[in-house]
Amino acid sequence: MSVLIVGAGPSGARLAIQLARVGAEVTLVDRLVDPERHAYSSAALPLEAVLRLGLPDEAIAATWQGWQLHDPSGLVHQWWSDDDLGVVLDFGRLRSWLWEEARRHGVELIQGCRASLSTVTDEGASVQLQTSDGQTSMRSARWLIDATGARRDLLQQAGLRPNPKDPLLEGIGVEWLLQADDRQVAAWRDRISFFLGTAWIPHGYGWIFPMQGQRLKVGVCHLPPADRPIPGSLARPLKRLIQRCGLSACTVLDRHGGRLSSSIYRSELLAAGALLAVGDAASSANLLGGEGIRHAMDSADQLADLLMAEGMHGDSTAMARHYQERLNAQQSWRWSVSGRLARRTWWGLDNSRADQRLQRLIHGLSTKAKALALSELLFDYNFERYGLRLLRYLL
Ligand SMILES: Cc1cc2nc3c(=O)[nH]c(=O)nc-3n(C[C@H](O)[C@H](O)[C@H](O)COP(=O)(O)OP(=O)(O)OC[C@H]3O[C@@H](n4cnc5c(N)ncnc54)[C@H](O)[C@@H]3O)c2cc1C
Repeated sequence: MSVLIVGAGPSGARLAIQLARVGAEVTLVDRLVDPERHAYSSAALPLEAVLRLGLPDEAIAATWQGWQLHDPSGLVHQWWSDDDLGVVLDFGRLRSWLWEEARRHGVELIQGCRASLSTVTDEGASVQLQTSDGQTSMRSARWLIDATGARRDLLQQAGLRPNPKDPLLEGIGVEWLLQADDRQVAAWRDRISFFLGTAWIPHGYGWIFPMQGQRLKVGVCHLPPADRPIPGSLARPLKRLIQRCGLSACTVLDRHGGRLSSSIYRSELLAAGALLAVGDAASSANLLGGEGIRHAMDSADQLADLLMAEGMHGDSTAMARHYQERLNAQQSWRWSVSGRLARRTWWGLDNSRADQRLQRLIHGLSTKAKALALSELLFDYNFERYGLRLLRYLL
């Protein structure tokens, strides 16, 4: 069975490794030349995911034991645990490790090539590869995978659009990597900090995450309603956040950013003939916390299972149906509540009433919840405990 995967982020690279492990002939293509460049993801993960996915120590930049929320009025709320709750990954190193693992398992890795769809039928698909200096070549395989993230390049080129009844929640994030010193880093280490409210940024949120060597990732994400354009630059709210946090004197080591998007009910078509989508391209990211690495990797594992079971002999129509059925079957009520909370929160966050509503919610959590419970709420979507309060907020 030959598989061509376009996009060597967490989902594409993980899928390539899983398939190569069982003897599939796998080609993995990415437009990036260097896996350490454009490390756009702030990459906070719960500890459980790091252990379950077997992520290596070398990709871990920091661990954290606390949550810190800066509410719309500027008040700071903290929740601490005695144990590690999660990690902040070095996204570049994670990608580097994944590429190395893929090679080690016999994957053919093609770096520095942009792929575009050429043909797709029930029997197979082909893409055109283009290097940055304009050289082109063609590649074909029995199965073609769109792992291009929120860009969804191949799905779009195949004419697969989002379902108008379940549109994408879309956003953009920018992040700067700052070099701080001992004094500057003190208020941000051992915790992940979020900034919520229109005074920080309307229709979105800001964050500061610790990294190794007194470095800090500082970012803002903007998720406006569908009828409002995503802005070209978020430099102004980001600089304001850096200034308000007293970090203006830090050296900026890197600037990066990226798009995030997902539908709430994942009801769009994610397969056509021999083409299947995985990871962010298949709306696996959770936009309540702007979090998708573990979901992208889980989505790769699920697709790998299906390809191993049916990819050799199954026909494309059955494969597409089974894939879509599997994705639908996992769609829990928690996932859709979390998507609806994301839409409600980010789309509506542009006025003082929304600020007050958010403030009440944070104060409620501040008095009732423990750090672990907050992790369960934001990472496991464990809403039961907050049922009525959240329902009121949603409505
Ligand atoms: C600012 C920001 C902060 C984030 N913070 C977090 C966080 O704290 N925690 C978390 O879990 N998630 C976070 N995410 C989300 C997370 O990074 C994504 O969900 C995850 O990376 C998705 O993995 P993926 O493999 O599906 O897609 P991607 O990581 O987007 O990988 C897609 C790959 O495809 C390549 N590609 C695209 N088009 C082509 C093409 N035509 N030809 C060849 N190659 C192509 C790209 O170069 C890229 O390497 C964040 C995202 C952003 C934007």
